[in-house]
Amino acid sequence: MTLHGKTALVTGGNRGIGLATVRALAGAGATVHFTARSAESLDLARQVLGPTATGHLADMTDAPALAALFQQPFDILVNNAAIIAPIGRILDISPQDWALNITTNLTAAFHATQLALRHMVAKGGGTIINISSGAAHRPQEGWSAYCAGKAGLAMLTRSVHMEYAAEGIRVFGFAPGVVDTDMQVAIRASGINPVSQIPRTALAPADHPARAIAWLCTAAADPLAGQELDIRAPDLRAAVGLPPLA
Ligand code: NDP
Repeated sequence: MTLHGKTALVTGGNRGIGLATVRALAGAGATVHFTARSAESLDLARQVLGPTATGHLADMTDAPALAALFQQPFDILVNNAAIIAPIGRILDISPQDWALNITTNLTAAFHATQLALRHMVAKGGGTIINISSGAAHRPQEGWSAYCAGKAGLAMLTRSVHMEYAAEGIRVFGFAPGVVDTDMQVAIRASGINPVSQIPRTALAPADHPARAIAWLCTAAADPLAGQELDIRAPDLRAAVGLPPLA
């Protein structure tokens, strides 16, 4: 697998699946950039990653920061940054927290997509990977904002494919499975729905979805463009080289 000559941006690349994706893309030969939203987390990620990748301070909900970041073109955009909060039934959460989830998980991905697309279309090609979730297609108690935002992101994936596939843009929705990250720590602590009951030992390591994301950036994934993919699909796992699920 080689991504030599490609430049990639991973949003929320300072920890979790984003950090593993930075590593996987760099390992495949891409020049990788990532965002972190605080100076502390950016410093930490820089210490962890060393010279492998270039970090940028950017809160994905800050439109001017995004405009500055996307002055430069990227061949690959991974819309990874997301929040799970607010966790709670609809009568127990605030409209402000609900709106922040949608701004972070959906509107920011739209902004990044629009800014990246301008360069990609001018260049005649590019890859956008929207990190989806089973929650895009199935409601979970206490996750109304997260489910609605991810469902919206899945429709954004289909919209980009419909409008720009003919101009060489490959877009994928990718559900990474249940992965051992801080997001799952928050989910377990909530105790609110069946996902919160999944023991940590049953979670996948972040490098599994990261390897699949890197594979989606290669031409081997061309026939799958425009689709919502799930890491649990046996064919996809085999193509990526991931072990079958028990
Ligand atoms: P984490 O909570 O571990 O990491 C989320 C990342 O997003 C962090 O880097 C965080 O930054 C960043 N982020 C959040 N909001 C912003 C913002 N406004 N601006 C910039 N960065 C931001 O989550 P995961 O690694 O688990 O999740 C990665 C993706 O995978 C998400 O899209 C998630 O919805 C999806 N996913 C995860 C699953 C799982 O089981 N883990 C299951 C299904 C989907 P900071 O460190 O500053 O908070």
